Amino acid sequence: MLHPAFVEIHLGHLRHNLEQVRRRLGPAEPIAVVKADAYGHGLVPVARTLQEAGIRHFAVARLSEAVELREAGITGSILLLGAAFPEDLAACVAHEVEVTVSSPLLAEAVCAAAPRYGPLRVHVKVDTGMGRLGIWPEEAPEIIRRLEQTPGVTLVGLCTHLATAEQPGDPFVQEQLERFEQLWRQVGDAFAVRHVANSGALFTLPSSYWSDSRQQARIGAALYGYLPRPELPGADELRPVMRFVACIVQVRTVPPGTTISYGRTWTAPGWRRIAVVGAGYGDGIPRRLSNRGQVGLHGHRFPIVGAVCMDMTMIDLGDPETAPDVQEGEPVVFFGEGGPSIAEVARWAETIPYELSCAAARRVPRRYQEQRQSVSSSVENF
Ligand SMILES: *Cc1c(COP(=O)(O)O)cnc(C)c1O
Repeated sequence: MLHPAFVEIHLGHLRHNLEQVRRRLGPAEPIAVVKADAYGHGLVPVARTLQEAGIRHFAVARLSEAVELREAGITGSILLLGAAFPEDLAACVAHEVEVTVSSPLLAEAVCAAAPRYGPLRVHVKVDTGMGRLGIWPEEAPEIIRRLEQTPGVTLVGLCTHLATAEQPGDPFVQEQLERFEQLWRQVGDAFAVRHVANSGALFTLPSSYWSDSRQQARIGAALYGYLPRPELPGADELRPVMRFVACIVQVRTVPPGTTISYGRTWTAPGWRRIAVVGAGYGDGIPRRLSNRGQVGLHGHRFPIVGAVCMDMTMIDLGDPETAPDVQEGEPVVFFGEGGPSIAEVARWAETIPYELSCAAARRVPRRYQEQRQSVSSSVENF
């Protein structure tokens, strides 16, 4: 079957990024975060590649993702980052999924479940300032003691999440770290490891992962080659893993005054060559790119004109006299090699790169590649 839109997933780049992450982490061990279908890159192929490259710890957001990993033969530890429901704890035992205890209620449920269903490995999450999940540092010692005394419960990690890790020098992040370290000094003996850093912290805050080998870091974005702020020093060590390509489905010449797409938000200023491209917001192309985004074609950039539709997007190839000679079926690059970077597109769409990678829809096939391929060879592939 031919697909007008697809994404290429460069597994070689994933391995390269993992090496860079490891180099930065030093003695700390990475927990590879593969939630949300590995940020859109495909849960199982990404996890298998990482496991083959030596990753021993994975993290997901939903129990269904953990089960999918186990069914695919992932043998490393799998940490459920999201809030588990008490009803899910039996399945966590059955699939050997580690649970994040992020509320007093869940701690109670774990203490009730372990003697009933079997051994449960848990991480205790404290809220030091993220304002999302976690127990308060003040109530933590009591809860940890209770977990520690419950047969069948193993305390694995103490963790917290940073709110501003991608802002170098932010004083709030230091406050969060201090709160965490203070608690760690108090209760650290009960745990095997602790983990605080995410991808932002990996580039801005070595003190959040670098002090000893009892530290781990939960790394997602950096593995896929993106950071929330691409201008962070060192971010250029990473290579983007996803490339979004769609094919031209029609090319037409239109007279001056022709309007393009819903709402007639763009009017041809003269004779124009317009290409209709087979990807739209139903594929994960932000509608926000209407009249403001660009795509790559033949090594040049062309503007998106008119409203992005559900299945199609129009681009302006220019004056018919000078427009490039393009054929139906030719690929254009929405982001990745041969087009704008995902960071540029994210800026136009007023979002962050991994909202775009997560947005690549299910109907957009993932094509896994070991080596980098040029635009022309992926045409043959198509
Ligand atoms: C998603 C997530 C991460 C990974 O963050 P990145 O910035 O993608 O590295 C780490 N910790 C928690 C709790 C998360 O939810």
